[in-house]
Amino acid sequence: MRILVVEDEPRLGRALQRGLTAEGYRVDLATDGIAGLEAIRHEAYDTIVLDIMLPRLSGYRVVRTMREEGIWSPVLILSAKDGEYDEADGLDCGADDYLTKPFSFVVLLARLRALHRRGAPERPTVLTVGTLRLDPASRRVVRDDTEITLTAREYALLEYLMRRQDQVVTKIELLDRVWDAGADTDPNVVEVYVGYLRRKIDQPFARHSLQTVRGAGYRLVDDTRGGDLRMAAVDGSASDADAVSDAFADSAIASDAVSDGGAPPTDTVGAAAGRKSQARAADGDVPAAATPRDT
Ligand code: CA
Repeated sequence: MRILVVEDEPRLGRALQRGLTAEGYRVDLATDGIAGLEAIRHEAYDTIVLDIMLPRLSGYRVVRTMREEGIWSPVLILSAKDGEYDEADGLDCGADDYLTKPFSFVVLLARLRALHRRGAPERPTVLTVGTLRLDPASRRVVRDDTEITLTAREYALLEYLMRRQDQVVTKIELLDRVWDAGADTDPNVVEVYVGYLRRKIDQPFARHSLQTVRGAGYRLVDDTRGGDLRMAAVDGSASDADAVSDAFADSAIASDAVSDGGAPPTDTVGAAAGRKSQARAADGDVPAAATPRDT
């Protein structure tokens, strides 16, 4: 695995090169932004460890330029700058992860392994799922031609789901990536925010793009695509998911129904059973595939 370290601080650069080499990586070192960008253009690196404050060309500019040129190698930003705003800047310009100095070498290694597992898929600057568009640089979200206003957390949740279009994302993963790992966050907060998002990105447009996959998590899809075929595929996944954990599915759906219960027009159904299935349909949930508990 080839790694490029772009770091102008000589001792840190050499220490990283030595440490990563000892871990079995092939490591190149560049000491300014221009040299880093040149190396990135000419060599296929598996991962790039990039300082922000660099002579000649900042780390932000390096990563933005390489993305514009269609180079998708994972980038981990390493910087003495800290704070949420700087991290957002780094990620908006196309980086994949962020570590603030001083950092633990063990943590760096773990992050590099995680980045390597993800590989280098194309990550276009503007994310699109069906008619839903999100521009990380301007933080604008648009459905059809209508701009949607989101809170910071709703935005972060949507961006994460959009980057994993069509994939099932677990509640734990969302807690970890959107709400900070390790914090004592109530997992139900994910369901609550999924409900908020649906009321903004789906319900006003009569869409069901943000789906609950029973027993597994959530999935953002282009729900305008291939009607019946798509529903068949969703049903299939739901069966697999059911096998994983029926209990989880039940609790997830129950809390979803509760957290979204106040949203019109789902609340107008009288009978309890009707109310549950109605709420579930309005949530963009996978259609109930005739399970005993639905009858
Ligand atoms: Ca520096």
